[in-house]
Amino acid sequence: MARVFNWQLGREMSYWYPESRPQKQFAAVFDTNKCIACQTCTLACKTTWTSGKGQEYMLWNNVESKPYGSYPQAWDLKLLDMLEAGKWNGNVYEGKTIFESAPAGERVMGWRPEDQDYSYPNVGEDDCAGQVDHGALMSLPHMQWFFYLARICNHCSNPACLASCPRGSIYKRQEDGIVLVDQSRCRGYQECVRGCPYKKVFFNPMTGTSEKCIACYPKMEQGMQPQCFVNCIGKIRMAGYINRPEKARGDNPIDYLVHVKKIALPLFPQYGLEPNVYYIPPVNVPSSFRQQLFGPGADAAVAAYRNAKNDPDLAALLCLFGCTESMMTHWNRQGDWVSASDDQGKQLVKVPVKEPVVIRPAFDPKQQLVRINCP
Ligand code: SF4
Ligand code: SF4
Repeated sequence: MARVFNWQLGREMSYWYPESRPQKQFAAVFDTNKCIACQTCTLACKTTWTSGKGQEYMLWNNVESKPYGSYPQAWDLKLLDMLEAGKWNGNVYEGKTIFESAPAGERVMGWRPEDQDYSYPNVGEDDCAGQVDHGALMSLPHMQWFFYLARICNHCSNPACLASCPRGSIYKRQEDGIVLVDQSRCRGYQECVRGCPYKKVFFNPMTGTSEKCIACYPKMEQGMQPQCFVNCIGKIRMAGYINRPEKARGDNPIDYLVHVKKIALPLFPQYGLEPNVYYIPPVNVPSSFRQQLFGPGADAAVAAYRNAKNDPDLAALLCLFGCTESMMTHWNRQGDWVSASDDQGKQLVKVPVKEPVVIRPAFDPKQQLVRINCP
């Protein structure tokens, strides 16, 4: 095992390969508070990439209701049970990652789902946590909670799928950090399925190879965001590139949300993969659950998010979610307007921070009529 620095854990950790960073790293921010679980993203991906034979059960993108939803079944709980509960000391994780907990002779602590674990993609949908006492629905605040967690491959910086593969069939692209399976090398050992803690690699029994989210790289090479991003009804998603914390740029939208404002956090950072999909945590769930999923910064992230209305820059950047199909690499606020541009400095979109309100006179002299909403 080599030693690599994982900034999400605030420390060095063991990994199967030496540290090797791509020139650019694809990353995304999902705002959990805006997701409505319409599954448009799921279907956008399904119809684009996994409509073939042997792919019927594959959901490279899925959306599950937490705390009870999971696809495959209990993907999160099983590993949390296996992994010794580790502690955070401030922002430093003092427990063991899945690489450091690997049994002797294995590269990763993992497990492989059974066929039946893929039987119910919508299990737990809209089930809220806890009992609803008689009359509780009529009182505020509501004590019951759930939230929607949209998931794709995290195109991790220390991918467990890649580390697990004895054939070296999985690779991380130098140009954008996207993690891919080389179909010509794969022999279907499914060690990647076992190793990925997020269960985002799927075995295709018809081809005998593993398949996974490819971040729609043919679109990204044309400067476009992936299908699940541009089709998102709730406009919860933003795709871009992330820098290391020490090289964070305030005018890079992903850097700003992750490193500057720290309102977007990785999912289960304690596993040690340095995942590159970042979540604005849900505001309505208990702090302990939020921290288990998103780490020790989750409560501060929620506080900063709630305060966005008093933070003109943050409020402006949040307006850029879902506003363009193109990959945004720069953003800029000027007064009540916010704009995004690409690598070449070409402006992609410009939107008002405040929704313009037009109050028209009740009487329209041109049409000689009165427009009012009530008699
Ligand atoms: S989420 Fe899983 S499949 Fe995706 S890069 Fe990380 S380990 Fe590999
Ligand atoms: S399309 Fe967007 S809002 Fe709808 S389920 Fe997917 S992530 Fe959520």
